[in-house]
Amino acid sequence: MVITTMSQIIGSTPVFKFTDRDCPMPLGSVIYAKLEHLNPGGSIKDRLGQYLIEKGIQTGQITDQTTIIEPTAGNTGIALALVALRHGLKTIFVVPKKFSLEKQQIMKALGAVVINTPSEEGIAGAIAKSKELAKNTPHSYLPLQFENPANPEAYYCSLGPEIVQELGTRLSSFVAGIGSGGTFAGTAKYLKEHIPSIRLIGVEPEGSILNGGESHAHEIEGIGVEFIPPFFSDLPIDGFETISDSEGFAYARELARKHGLLVGSSSGAAFVAALREVQRLPEGSLVLTIFPDMADRYLSKGIYQ
Ligand code: PMP
Repeated sequence: MVITTMSQIIGSTPVFKFTDRDCPMPLGSVIYAKLEHLNPGGSIKDRLGQYLIEKGIQTGQITDQTTIIEPTAGNTGIALALVALRHGLKTIFVVPKKFSLEKQQIMKALGAVVINTPSEEGIAGAIAKSKELAKNTPHSYLPLQFENPANPEAYYCSLGPEIVQELGTRLSSFVAGIGSGGTFAGTAKYLKEHIPSIRLIGVEPEGSILNGGESHAHEIEGIGVEFIPPFFSDLPIDGFETISDSEGFAYARELARKHGLLVGSSSGAAFVAALREVQRLPEGSLVLTIFPDMADRYLSKGIYQ
């Protein structure tokens, strides 16, 4: 394959198949994992970066004068920076200090300016700071993934159709992590329209509020919410799985050691949740989950220690 921009290899990621020989699950059941860490920016967010920038250009919200400003835990920043490069756009990302240094360095390597907000203010602090910066920056464009309907739309238009094309309509359940909620909401909406019987299970770390727990800090990066995402209002969600940091990291290590899958802890958490789901379903069930990003951006966080 010969390419001229990295955007050309966003999407069309492979699907990994786990059978009852790989892990404890009912006879003939399968867990499929969409390997989104193999996108060129190392995460699922490449799909969002591409969609937001292309849509912004089409609608005239982005011109060659534009500076893109966004609050991000890192992967959305990497994705936007990667796609912005191709269009010669400037990027500024506001990242709570606690998030991995590797992600912040990758954003900078792609030409972005990174501004840190205090860890204890969480993503809400980064959102407030981004809005303030946008007010004072001429020609700024603030995609605001946490409230922009284009976020779930990006996955409704790319990830959902790919899954149905590759795996057909026999899936029993869709299990995926929730950060902004875009991946889950957009993909779930598409899948539900094509597979009405599919169960929808969201995944959160301990310290996230979807199962009614108290909000507190957690080590699993990229998933977990301090407020209910606005994209879930019409979605018939069947339940949420809450995964501890130690389980998420333990399974991320196991996926590397057993299968060569170098994925982050949100993938470990998604895999634990998919295992719990497949274990409560009858034999021969097919569960789909998503592995959102690469492990190498968490080495300083001790992901393999
Ligand atoms: N896993 C990782 C590592 C992420 O960075 C993100 C995005 N924050 C997610 C999962 C969840 O994706 P979404 O924002 O679409 O809910």
